[in-house]
Amino acid sequence: MRKALSFIKNTLTNIWFGIKTSFLASKKYFLLKCLVLLSTTFIPLATIWLWRGILNGVVAGNAKDVFILLIVYLSFKLLTYLLFNFDIYVRARYGVALTMYIENVMIDKTSRIDLAFFDSAKMGDKVRITRSNFEIMGSVAWLVFNIFSAIINVIATFIIVTTINGWIGVLTILLLIPFFIYDNKHTNFMREMEEAQTRDDRKKDYYKNAFYDNNIQFEIKLNKLADFFLGRYKEIWRRLYKKRTKAGIWHTARISFFLLLNFMSELIMLIFSVQGVIAKEIGIGNLQYNISMVARLREQSIELMTNVNRLMVNNVRLKNLKEFIAMKPEYEQCGKRIPGSNPRIEFHNVYFRYPNCEDYVLKNCSFVIEPHEKIALVGQNGSGKSTIIKLMFRFYDPEKGVIKLDGIDIKEYDVYAVRRVFGVLFQDYVTYCLPLREIIALSDFAERFDDGKLQKASDISGVTDIIKDWPDGFDSVLGRYYADNGKDLSGGQWQLVGLARAYFRESEFMILDEPSAALDPISEDRIFAQLYDLSKGKNAVIISHRLSNTTLADKILVLDDGHIVERGSHFELLKQNGKYAYWFNLQASKYV
Ligand code: ADP
Repeated sequence: MRKALSFIKNTLTNIWFGIKTSFLASKKYFLLKCLVLLSTTFIPLATIWLWRGILNGVVAGNAKDVFILLIVYLSFKLLTYLLFNFDIYVRARYGVALTMYIENVMIDKTSRIDLAFFDSAKMGDKVRITRSNFEIMGSVAWLVFNIFSAIINVIATFIIVTTINGWIGVLTILLLIPFFIYDNKHTNFMREMEEAQTRDDRKKDYYKNAFYDNNIQFEIKLNKLADFFLGRYKEIWRRLYKKRTKAGIWHTARISFFLLLNFMSELIMLIFSVQGVIAKEIGIGNLQYNISMVARLREQSIELMTNVNRLMVNNVRLKNLKEFIAMKPEYEQCGKRIPGSNPRIEFHNVYFRYPNCEDYVLKNCSFVIEPHEKIALVGQNGSGKSTIIKLMFRFYDPEKGVIKLDGIDIKEYDVYAVRRVFGVLFQDYVTYCLPLREIIALSDFAERFDDGKLQKASDISGVTDIIKDWPDGFDSVLGRYYADNGKDLSGGQWQLVGLARAYFRESEFMILDEPSAALDPISEDRIFAQLYDLSKGKNAVIISHRLSNTTLADKILVLDDGHIVERGSHFELLKQNGKYAYWFNLQASKYV
């Protein structure tokens, strides 16, 4: 009993959720759709009734009544036709509005949700399922309307059929019960199959999308990998297709049997009415009317049952969806403090591992960055340098230990204000297809029309040299995704644009993660010289494998296996003759 009550409660809240969302997507089309639905519920019943009168009138030779009924009948038919077309229009417009609304909700959610959420394949599956379930959000309202419309139709036709013949109405409903049970099982089976195949579906898309990914395209052409990627794609596609086809064939066979069974009621009504006509108990109009009414009772009952089944399955789907929407971006909910522009940063015994990973990336990691200090983070690949930066931005929180800004736990600050402290150049430069002005100004978008500021950032980063011959200057579009004459840049040039973006924010705290990875030696030399020069009195954190770039740092932190194993100035570390000295001498020896 309690289970049944909670099921009803759950169904009702889901229905409400579906209707509310559909209404919010577009009030105008929602109301229009209600109006169309209501009209299409009653008009078919009225036309069947009118047709009976016409046929009986024709047989009785009652020309005047037939004429009037015909005019009304034709008006109803015309109205049905107009409503049908209007419905197509409303559906199309409403579909667009709904998709737009849903995309908005989805983008807003995914842009604010914590990074940790996206760090596992399981979460990828969840996003995929949620995305596909978003579409059913709109369908919940239609299901409910269709169910209401079908209930009215079933009650009306059931009463009419029962008055014609006491047991044909009951028989029609009874014959539909096996269909209802089967359809319920099948709908659930399809949902479970869809969810079970999500991972394979995503894998299939991965192999397909490789062909459209510029980075992978090079490798595909170079190593002639098309057959490999296509082969993998086809293999998964075939597997999924086989399972779906098998399920589809069995479903068609079974559903045909159940529909044939249901058709018996129409057959019985036909025999019963033909007998009536032969015995002259009813007119030919009634024969047509009786059969049409049973057919409608049958159709509407099927409509009702399938929609009830869909609604029950949607209950499960909506649960995923509601969970996704209800997910709170945790970090956004935290403190409200605003940090200073040059905060003292402390890592106290920080332990961190990425979500769903067993191994710690940082173990008992402690260090301090004093205001105005320039720090270099060095260590082998994978030692956790970039991870430290991500923790400073609060993309993640430590599992143990604490990170403090000016002596206060970073969690007490507004997360967006913390992120705004830094001007950043990430290791993997991002290529955008936008006007250069916007690409540079993405770090402080409101200022994108400030040409003076753009010029300054471009001068420091070296972008001015790249664009000196471009007639459209900052308004030139980069990338060719949608612009035929978009400018293409080399990896190093993109990195300089990234650097301009970092400088554009005019932050007091610069973070450069491998800024020289793609740069030529002259640009590299200039950038580091400028960095140390420009950031006098400011903070900077530099990650670089080229240790000649880190010699000017106030403090070098050497990271190994998640710990800070050495710390000090370049000369202090050389004296220690530890890891840093070994790496530095190794690199220096190559230049001698
Ligand atoms: P570094 O910058 O020193 O080269 P990173 O901080 O980028 O190293 O990475 C440290 C370790 O964390 C590596 O073993 C890397 O594979 C792992 N790692 C980085 N990002 C993620 C992630 N999002 N999920 C799981 N592991 C990650």
